[in-house]
Amino acid sequence: MQQRHQQTISRPAQVCGYGLFTNAEVKVNFLPAAENHGIVFQRTDLPGQPTVPALSDWIAPEERRTKLVRGEASVEMIEHAMAALAGLQIDNCLVQVNGPELPGCDGSSLPYAAALLDGEPVLQNALREVQIIRQFHQLELESAELEIKPATDALRIRYELDYGEGSVIPCQSAEFEITPEIFVTKIASARTFVLEQEIAYLRSRGYGQHVTAGDLLVYGPHGPVGSELRARNECARHKLLDCLGDLALCGCDVIGSVRACRSGHRHNHALARYVRSLKQSESGPVARVA
Ligand SMILES: [Zn+2]
Repeated sequence: MQQRHQQTISRPAQVCGYGLFTNAEVKVNFLPAAENHGIVFQRTDLPGQPTVPALSDWIAPEERRTKLVRGEASVEMIEHAMAALAGLQIDNCLVQVNGPELPGCDGSSLPYAAALLDGEPVLQNALREVQIIRQFHQLELESAELEIKPATDALRIRYELDYGEGSVIPCQSAEFEITPEIFVTKIASARTFVLEQEIAYLRSRGYGQHVTAGDLLVYGPHGPVGSELRARNECARHKLLDCLGDLALCGCDVIGSVRACRSGHRHNHALARYVRSLKQSESGPVARVA
């Protein structure tokens, strides 16, 4: 397999909406960036417009979402934008945000993917770094399992969702090889999901004031409330999307096969750190592909 060339976008792309947790109206500007720039977030609403690179080094602990902090630059709920960038293989981009949280949109990556495609991804000269997984590695954290093993020539992710007997969300799985086409057609549209009883709790804590049933997949005792499933296994596809977005924080392409079972952001972050540590420990900055 050949290393692919890095990509950026040809022109700025924009996504607007409300933050799910902060309720703030936010504007996100994706700007073209030079080779080897990577994905970098910039808080344009803060003095000095501080930046934080989208790398696992800057992950800060946060419930139910992914947050990056470097100095004054703090940005959260980045995972759906990161999944769109990774899924579309856009490697270099300055992501300007005028608030602390990216918009939730419809709970999926589709609005981000649509905006980035509108920005017209374009090839650059430099090659994209690749980390090839050469051995089986397993992370066991509480009741979740996350493992990565060698694969022939691509990144594959399998997500197994199992909330136990009696859960209103049925046991399901999703598995895809990650390519831009598969990302757009099979993964990007899968929405964040919550249980109806959780939404009442989240609202009571002040979250999701602008959220309606159209912004999330809400599960009641008899299935989805106020909307239809976009795929039979939409929940598993969304968890796979989150895993892809979080794994992108390793800062390079990955050739390997991921199996994630009952895992969440914390586990994904541990995986991203593991892959990044491999990248940093191998000789030379780039693992060449034979
Ligand atoms: Zn998510």
